Amino acid sequence: MNTYDVVVIGAGVIGSSVAFHLAKFGAKRVLVLDRGTIGAGTTSQSSGILRTHYSVKENVELARQSWSVFNNFAQYLEDDEASCGLVKCGYMIVAPEGDKLEPLRASLQQQQEQGIPLELLNQAQAKELLPIAQFEDAALIGYEPEAGFADAYLVATGFARAARRGGVTIRENVEVQKLQIENGKVVGVSTSIGDIKTSMVISTQNIWTPELAGWTGRSLPVVPERHAVLALECEAAKYTFSMPVFKDLASPGMLYCRSYGGSQMLVSEGVVGEKLKAAEVEQGDIPMDYVVEVGAQVAERFPDYETAGIASSWTGVYDVTPDWNPVLGKLPGIEGLVVGYGFSGHGFKLSPTVGRIIAQEALGLPTDVSLKPYSIERFTTGELLTGKYGLGAVS
Ligand SMILES: Cc1cc2nc3c(=O)[nH]c(=O)nc-3n(C[C@H](O)[C@H](O)[C@H](O)COP(=O)(O)OP(=O)(O)OC[C@H]3O[C@@H](n4cnc5c(N)ncnc54)[C@H](O)[C@@H]3O)c2cc1C
Repeated sequence: MNTYDVVVIGAGVIGSSVAFHLAKFGAKRVLVLDRGTIGAGTTSQSSGILRTHYSVKENVELARQSWSVFNNFAQYLEDDEASCGLVKCGYMIVAPEGDKLEPLRASLQQQQEQGIPLELLNQAQAKELLPIAQFEDAALIGYEPEAGFADAYLVATGFARAARRGGVTIRENVEVQKLQIENGKVVGVSTSIGDIKTSMVISTQNIWTPELAGWTGRSLPVVPERHAVLALECEAAKYTFSMPVFKDLASPGMLYCRSYGGSQMLVSEGVVGEKLKAAEVEQGDIPMDYVVEVGAQVAERFPDYETAGIASSWTGVYDVTPDWNPVLGKLPGIEGLVVGYGFSGHGFKLSPTVGRIIAQEALGLPTDVSLKPYSIERFTTGELLTGKYGLGAVS
C-alpha cells in the first residue's frame, strides 16, 4: 500500500505526539517517516525541563495543557506501561535587582492570572528548598511547585508506541526527499523507498526544515544553534531529586540547572548559542574556556561547586526562529501542508499540546489552542512572539 491519508515527516517528540493524536482523533491511514530512528534527533539531546514559566502568555497555555499530560502520562496514552520519567521537583526562578526584575515580576503575575499555581518565596524559604544555593542577591524568587523534568526520549518512544497501537505505521530509516505538489495541492512525497501518495503532509523536521523550504520554495526562517550541557559532580554538595529545577536570571548565561541522576547537577546556558551553517546533530567541541566560564557562574550561586568536576557533557542543537518561538499550522498557498518547527530549545515541554493541535488542524477540527499567534506570517507582519527576557530559551 503506498497511499495514506496523512504522512508525518519526522519521529521526534513532536512528530510522535502528532502521530499519537492523529490516531486518537480517529485518523485511519497514517504514516510516519524518519530517516533515523524514533527520538534520535534533537529530542535525544534534551535537558527535559518542564515548566509553565514563560513570558509569552500563549506559551504558558501550551505548557499548562501539556503539563497535565506529563502528570498523567500512562492514563493519557491508555498504556499502563508508559512512563515519561517525571521528577516533580518544582521550578524556581530568581532575578536580582536590574533589567530582569520587572520582566520576571510581570511574567509571574501573568502566570497567576492564567491560573498557574505559583508562590513568591523569600530568601530563607528558597534556601530551604534548595539548600546548596545562596540567595543573597535575589530580589524576586518565583516557585512553581507543579513543575520538574522528564525524559524526552521516553516521551517520544511512548507516544510512538501508543500511536502504533492506534494503527499508525512508523517507518524508521526512510528519508523523505521531496514533497510532490500539483496545482498548489500536496499529492505525495518522494522517499528513499519510493513515492507515496497522500493529500496531507505534516512536517515536524526541526533543524532539517530548510529541506522543506527547498521543496516548497517558501521562506521558513530557522537557524541550527548548538548548545552545550554539562553534568557536574561535587563532593561537598548533592543536587538531589527533591531539589527544584533552578533558573538563574542573575547569571550572564541565564543558567538553568537540575538534578541529574539524583546527585549530579545538569547545567546549561539559556542564551544564544553557536550558530551552525547546516543541520547536524553530531557532537561538537566544548572548549575548556567555556567550561571554566560556566563553572564560575555555577560557583557564584552554588559556592560548594567551586571544586566541582565534570562527570559528563554533550552538545545539542536548537531549531531557532527569529523570535525564539515555534511556527505551527498551515503554510499559506499550499493545500495539505501543516508544519510544526522552530522550537528554539523549549519544545519538549510543549510537545503534548503541540502534537494535539497540529493533529486537530490537519484533520480540520477546531484546535484547543489558537494557532494564529504561531503562524509563519508573523515574520512578515512583525507580530513577533519575542519574550520579555530577550532572545534565549526562556521565551
Ligand atoms: C541541548 C538541548 C536541551 C534542551 N532542553 C530542553 C528543555 O529542558 N525543555 C524543553 O522543553 N525543551 C528542551 N529542548 C528542546 C526540545 O528537546 C526540542 O524542542 C524537541 O525535542 C524537538 O523535537 P522535534 O520532534 O521537533 O525534533 P527532532 O527530535 O529533531 O525530530 C525531527 C526528526 O525529523 C527527522 N527528519 C528530518 N527531515 C527528515 C526527512 N527529510 N526525512 C525523514 N526524516 C526526517 C529527523 O531524523 C528527526 O528524527 C532542548 C533541546 C536541546 C538540543
